[in-house]
Amino acid sequence: GQCISVCPTGALTEVNNIPKVWDALNQTEKTVVVQVAPAVRVAIGEEFGLEPGAISTGKMVAALRAIGFKYVFDTNFAADLTILEEASEFIHRLKEGKNLPILTSCCPAWINFIEGNYPDLLNLPSSCKSPQEMFGSIAKNYFGPKVINTDPKDMYVISIMPCVAKKYEASRSELGQGDSLDVDISITTRELAKMIKEAGIDLVNLEEESFDSPLGDSTGAADIFGATGGVLEAALRTAYEWVTDSELENVEFTQVRGMEGIKEASIDIAGTIVNVCATSSLGNARKIMDEVKAGNSKYHIVEVMACPGGCVAGGGQPYHHGDYDIVKKRAAGLYNIDSSKQLRKSHKNPAILALYKEFLGEPYGETAHKLLHTHYFDKSNVYDVVEECSCSKEAEAS
Ligand code: SF4
Repeated sequence: GQCISVCPTGALTEVNNIPKVWDALNQTEKTVVVQVAPAVRVAIGEEFGLEPGAISTGKMVAALRAIGFKYVFDTNFAADLTILEEASEFIHRLKEGKNLPILTSCCPAWINFIEGNYPDLLNLPSSCKSPQEMFGSIAKNYFGPKVINTDPKDMYVISIMPCVAKKYEASRSELGQGDSLDVDISITTRELAKMIKEAGIDLVNLEEESFDSPLGDSTGAADIFGATGGVLEAALRTAYEWVTDSELENVEFTQVRGMEGIKEASIDIAGTIVNVCATSSLGNARKIMDEVKAGNSKYHIVEVMACPGGCVAGGGQPYHHGDYDIVKKRAAGLYNIDSSKQLRKSHKNPAILALYKEFLGEPYGETAHKLLHTHYFDKSNVYDVVEECSCSKEAEAS
């Protein structure tokens, strides 16, 4: 079989995409759009001497503009969008009492793992594309043609990700329309740091700038996607309010925060007890999936991240060399961004609401299905899947 980068640490050969990005930026007739994942902003500063967890959003945005990106947008926008779709899908499944637990689908290493190891359970992962892919789809099918009058063929969508597996995800041919992929080139946090250095930009002393609108606007729920448990927490904030039709006062589901490999909680949503679990590392995912397969899982929602600690510890981030204090500080940075934002629930993001009103229609509706959802493949014959990487063991020991 073929070995796929299900090991998210970058221990497997990492493709250098920096020349491709410079090449895209040099094609002046093209519109180059960039998106940055949540976990990048609390780690990139480390490459320039800042403390782990230092919030570098404004300086990072300024650096991206200085490098030459025309539109500097935020994967967070698409994280909020993911929550509207995924919460809708969850509520739908809960009502039908079918296809539970719903499994999160934003981590491509985890998707590879389930496609390779549990091909008979492919009805369980959410059909939602990951935020990276939803962003690309909206950039090319809405922002280009409807907002800036640009054909998707004349656009490049570049992503800055904490992750090596995201490069592979970007190349999956079903994630696009026709022969145009949603995301053209994905690079890691480390690669962006190298580009900033190659351009001679002094990140630390840049004036802070803001993301462009509307694909740069997000709520605090999106920021926490970068830490284990964060996608689950963000989804609960929205699902709770939609099901109960009442305001959720305390948005912090602290039971699913922190570095533990398996965290669980039971939440009363309008009289229904919803059992949720957030797990990180593929070894832990296997434990949960074996229960699901045996038919004795109590969970309704399971979040899975391949990297222990979530994307803040991703294989594309500045190396943490097994020091999980660094990872904890990055996660704390994300929770600080969340708590400092006025809006902390994805379904309250005005830019997202406007997108549905003007373009998408209803969450989980027809256009949303076409552009924001995907499907999975039985790859049990294709991959020799790596079960656990050394960082899982380091994380358990910390
Ligand atoms: Fe990539 Fe995040 Fe998954 Fe790690 S947890 S493989 S960084 S998506």
